[in-house]
Amino acid sequence: MQAVVFPAPQTISVERVPDPTCGADEVVVQVARCGICGTDVHIYRNEYMSSFPLIPGHEFGGVIVEVGREVTDLKAGDRVAVDPNLYCGHCNMCRNEMANHCLNWQGLGITRPGGFAEYTAVPARACYRLPASLSDAQAAFIEPLACVVHAMKRIRVLPADPILILGAGPMGLLLVQALRRVGASYVAVVEKQPARIALARTLGASLAVTPGPDQTDQLRTVAPHGFGVVIDATGVPAVIESAFQYLRPRGQYLQFGVTPKTATVTLNPYDIFHNDWTMIGSFALCYTFLPAIDWLASGAIDVTPLVSHVAPMHSFADVFASFAAGSTLKVHVQTGAAS
Ligand SMILES: [Zn+2]
Ligand SMILES: [Zn+2]
Repeated sequence: MQAVVFPAPQTISVERVPDPTCGADEVVVQVARCGICGTDVHIYRNEYMSSFPLIPGHEFGGVIVEVGREVTDLKAGDRVAVDPNLYCGHCNMCRNEMANHCLNWQGLGITRPGGFAEYTAVPARACYRLPASLSDAQAAFIEPLACVVHAMKRIRVLPADPILILGAGPMGLLLVQALRRVGASYVAVVEKQPARIALARTLGASLAVTPGPDQTDQLRTVAPHGFGVVIDATGVPAVIESAFQYLRPRGQYLQFGVTPKTATVTLNPYDIFHNDWTMIGSFALCYTFLPAIDWLASGAIDVTPLVSHVAPMHSFADVFASFAAGSTLKVHVQTGAAS
């Protein structure tokens, strides 16, 4: 089969590799679409937890074409989305409802072959059958949306609290919609690109501002005492350092964007103490595929305008470079033979 391979850091190859073999408790999925994610860029740059060579891709859905002999609840022809986070189910973290911190964690497209391939073998228990109404594009958004659902469970949105999101890329734009769904009445975003600013407004942001000299004044006008929740959705250390000036006393800061593993920021502990601040992380997802599927199937979250490019696998290197440069929104790779 054809697959995208990162043979080594900073290297991309689209090549013929052996078809995956199906373990007893696994299924083989023919991938329909797989989304490019900021994490893939960190993996490519060797700033994440992966080792090489790797078939990347962790945001995908497709059709089951083969089932292992112990699999009883799935069959060939089923359309599924796949939770790339593989939890063992028996370690201390899994038994304490923290499966995303599983001590034996493996990730499809992170530590095991992923979805930028015609086929991929995955544990049957990682598959979620799709409602017929969900498109392949929506299916490839279940994983990122499940990360957003996890973030919504990590923070506590209080009635009428103004919320600030730094960065309106695909994840920031999902956050805008999710925050409105969980009751936020005022969501402001800071974003450089005009197209993303327009989209943020369409999708529910009350205010979208461009970073620059006026930024602070504009944000202070709508939230004179600061925001109840400030969310970094950029992963950029300089942006993170600037975030705290917008946080209200007793506010919650959410680190949602992925920084390089070794990044550091300067932070004044006295400010945290004196302002009653809460620092929150949100790593991946934790059994949040079902609510993400429901949000998409019910039309509560609109992902259609978030896909800026749909590309065949052979042009992966080009679209990946554009994505890494920030000149796209979500890029979907169509991995089927037809492309
Ligand atoms: Zn991702
Ligand atoms: Zn575990």
